[in-house]
Amino acid sequence: MATKPFGSVICDRMSVSVFDADRFNDHDLVATDSLPLHPAAHVLHYGSACFEGLKAHRGSDGVIRIFRLDRHAERLRISAELLCLPDPPAELLTEMVRDTVTANIDDVPRPPGALYLRPVLIGTEANIGAAARPSRTALLYVIASPVGDYFDSSRTLTVAIETGLPRTTPQFGQAKTGANYAMALGITRRAAEADGADQVLFAPNGDVQETGASNFLMIDGNRIVTKAPDGSFLHGVTRDSLLTIAREQGYDVEERDVGVAELLARAPQVEMALSGTAAVLAPVGTLVHDGRRVTVGDGSPGPNTGKLRETLQAVQRGEMPDRWGWTTAI
Ligand SMILES: *Cc1c(COP(=O)(O)O)cnc(C)c1O
Repeated sequence: MATKPFGSVICDRMSVSVFDADRFNDHDLVATDSLPLHPAAHVLHYGSACFEGLKAHRGSDGVIRIFRLDRHAERLRISAELLCLPDPPAELLTEMVRDTVTANIDDVPRPPGALYLRPVLIGTEANIGAAARPSRTALLYVIASPVGDYFDSSRTLTVAIETGLPRTTPQFGQAKTGANYAMALGITRRAAEADGADQVLFAPNGDVQETGASNFLMIDGNRIVTKAPDGSFLHGVTRDSLLTIAREQGYDVEERDVGVAELLARAPQVEMALSGTAAVLAPVGTLVHDGRRVTVGDGSPGPNTGKLRETLQAVQRGEMPDRWGWTTAI
């Protein structure tokens, strides 16, 4: 199952809760076949949607663990607020994610695969007149997908740097919303066609932020440099986890602004990588800037990237002690 393209296999059961009037109703497990959605639904016209992405891992001990469920629940609430959607209670989302894993437990792949979980919150009010106000009704649901690696970790990525067009708008930098993905779509497709780029690194006015779906890290020996959290980018749970592990392993973590000029100048001597639930920590081998190609290190996956990735996965799979209470066993 996990050898199919990432995200193309969806499990049979999903958890659903309807928000009407002023509360989220009791959640149900239902068949993942369709949603009750009116063609005039707010989300289809005015984009009231946000989502999360997290994983359940099957450990070598057979135990299935959900990684940092509380953090993802918290972040969905931040996105909901930015999208003017009703605030999903953390306990509700936690239960819905757990129920979804339990209902599809036989579909949780063995490592390196995992069960990818996708909570989604959308505005459902059937009213095309509600263009300038929030949807009064909403739907929260959690679907699951057995996945393998998002990127083939044995090869490095080609990343095009975009300094002209932004990934998002100032008010949505920290929202996990389809609107941001839509903004990046055309830019990413053009970079793929013109430069053979796998991803686009957005650096408006030279300020390195992140790619369309993952955070960006520069690793120079035992020093990790990455942008400090601000409103301009999505604060990845993977980023936070990797930095926490790295500090514990003796790396120096430098959270600060990084410019494109510094990136290009240091590329030959350092490692660069993309972090995210899907990407884990994926090595970058080539940067493309204004049509010029710059090799990162020697162009192959770097040792620190590999080490940090393996340590994170060992915690996720219960092969290393979870000192931070990050995992929820099912
Ligand atoms: C989901 C996402 C990430 C990665 O976040 P994780 O919590 O590490 O999975 C990074 N950037 C954007 C824009 C995202 O949507």
